[in-house]
Amino acid sequence: MIDRKYKLKFTDSNVHDSVSYILVSKFNIKPNVHQARIDGSGGRMILSMVGSDSAVDAAIEYLRSIDISVELMENFVKRDDRRCIDCGSCISVCPTFAFELNKKTWEVMLDTNKCISCGSCLSACPTHAITLKMNP
Ligand code: SF4
Ligand code: SF4
Repeated sequence: MIDRKYKLKFTDSNVHDSVSYILVSKFNIKPNVHQARIDGSGGRMILSMVGSDSAVDAAIEYLRSIDISVELMENFVKRDDRRCIDCGSCISVCPTFAFELNKKTWEVMLDTNKCISCGSCLSACPTHAITLKMNP
């Protein structure tokens, strides 16, 4: 079983396809939608897919066949640890709790796997330690 996050991009031709229904009924994948910005002309969705490797691979292939762009979200957020001063400003603005204070070392830890690429931490960071891979 794998549990990975993906960014899906829709166009006006496929925006009405129910991705969650397709994933569950056709591929036995459990989707978890983290964020969706969609209107009649298209949009984007960030979701996790939990399922077997082969099922997720097949689902991605299917989604791409109906022109839904699928991009694995890995290392979307990066932090330059040399710039980080562990001020904690990023902790409260992150909707997915990707930042956490280590109470033993007083360092702010970042779990990049939790990032949904919202961008909130960029402006919160006083030292500009955080960068985000932008949408292509
Ligand atoms: S971009 Fe958003 S989700 Fe990702 S770490 Fe920053 S605040 Fe959290
Ligand atoms: S806001 Fe920037 S400097 Fe402060 S803890 Fe977060 S990454 Fe480090």
